[in-house]
Amino acid sequence: MSFLQKLLHFLLPTSLFAVMEADSKRWFLICGTCGFKKSIWELGGIRYKAASAGKMSYRTCPQCLQRRWFKWQKQSQ
Ligand SMILES: [Zn+2]
Repeated sequence: MSFLQKLLHFLLPTSLFAVMEADSKRWFLICGTCGFKKSIWELGGIRYKAASAGKMSYRTCPQCLQRRWFKWQKQSQ
């Protein structure tokens, strides 16, 4: 877990943290160039009850090894 995730785990009740973890695992960042896809959770982030469909992030792609635009996408259950 990332520092942020550990901190929230420490601060929040276990049940709420579990819900946040599940939500974060359903949000994915997809590289617009190579299609690399990883969940927010795996990237060390937290996403909870947020509507970010259509949102874009500019970050370094682990596959392209360059700064790329990433699309946020929520996976349906
Ligand atoms: Zn990429």
